[in-house]
Amino acid sequence: MATKSKFLRVKCTDCGNEQVIFGSASTVVRCVVCSRTLAEPTGGKAEVKTQIIEVIE
Ligand SMILES: [Zn+2]
Repeated sequence: MATKSKFLRVKCTDCGNEQVIFGSASTVVRCVVCSRTLAEPTGGKAEVKTQIIEVIE
C-alpha cells in the first residue's frame, strides 16, 4: 500500500548498497551490486524485500 506510485530509497541488506527504485515496478528489481532481489511486482505495485530508507513522494 505504502509503496504505490512512489520512488523508494532502499538499502540492500546483503551488501549495503543504496539505490532508488520505483514503488510500482512491473519487473523484479535487483541490487546493482550483488543482484539480490530488492522488490518483486505484485498486482501493480512492488513488494519491497529489503530495507526502505526513505519514501520519495
Ligand atoms: Zn546488494
